[in-house]
Amino acid sequence: MTDSAAKHLLDWYAGNARDLPWRNPPGAPLPADPDWPYRVWLSEVMLQQTTVAAVQGYFATFTARWPTVAALAAADDGEVMQAWAGLGYYARARNLLACARAVVRDHGGRFPAEEASLRSLPGIGDYTAAAIAAFAFGAHAIVIDGNVERVVTRLHAIDTPLPAARPRIRAELAALVPADAAGDFAQGLMDLAGRICTPRAPRCLICPLQPGCRAAASADPTRWPVKAAKRPRPTRHGTAWWIEAEGQVLTVVRPGKGLLGGMRALPSCDWRGDPTPPIAGDWRDLGAVSHGFTHFELVLAVRALHLPAKPALAGDWLNVDDVATAGLPTLFQKAAMLARATSLEAA
Ligand code: SF4
Repeated sequence: MTDSAAKHLLDWYAGNARDLPWRNPPGAPLPADPDWPYRVWLSEVMLQQTTVAAVQGYFATFTARWPTVAALAAADDGEVMQAWAGLGYYARARNLLACARAVVRDHGGRFPAEEASLRSLPGIGDYTAAAIAAFAFGAHAIVIDGNVERVVTRLHAIDTPLPAARPRIRAELAALVPADAAGDFAQGLMDLAGRICTPRAPRCLICPLQPGCRAAASADPTRWPVKAAKRPRPTRHGTAWWIEAEGQVLTVVRPGKGLLGGMRALPSCDWRGDPTPPIAGDWRDLGAVSHGFTHFELVLAVRALHLPAKPALAGDWLNVDDVATAGLPTLFQKAAMLARATSLEAA
């Protein structure tokens, strides 16, 4: 990418930036609002592995309910986890709380501006630290995510597979990020990646970077980025227990650490295994649901037991009709839907 390409990108961004509640308009001075870094951070955590369309409603809910980092730090864990339900990757929600509390405890309720200090906070890695430094504080940071990698590898036709190509991508960008517009440059590149230089159908004919792009001059721009061969994702198995009595179903809060930690769920066996039910009885097999996690696919068998009266088991009983809105993570929502559908069929 050349200086003129950076200018073309900034010009395109000035005319095409999306209006988002966590984003400063192109060329505008940073907002004086002391909670601006909180909004930037919250949006960046939500946007990890999630689309803008999916995040917008959650962002509005969180900022209405917890308008400052101090308010979020003081929030009840269960309420935050429930408000997060459906966004997935629940470790982010746990880190969100841990980070808000660290900012209040260690930084007087203000996010630090330097990337190194930001990286020391829970849930903030290299990308998020650079994004907060650039978008919230105007720092000359190099913001690189998978979308930026795609554009840069195409511009330069970088044949080295990812992740080995990352040092070169960083070097190409470092030479280019304008000192006075690092945030706009990064946002522009990400918008361009999402709307023009898309993974499968790049629109080179209308791309402002087309004049110097080596991929556009090739027969197939989608050849880049080159990726190292993936290992197949393993499948794990577990069992969820639907225990229904007196119109209610037993739910538990999962342990704080590990998969879906701290989330409300149906009782279930450890993924590795021993499917012994929590109580003896006439269990029915209802089938199975599956859900993809980052590193594995989980197939969850669902078994049901209907009892005339509630047994003495640890957990909380919810009305069966309220389970859909109880903030269960998607995996357990699928299990609950299967159990409900099977009960209704049998009724
Ligand atoms: Fe991507 Fe095509 Fe633009 Fe190159 S010209 S950056 S391949 S959309």
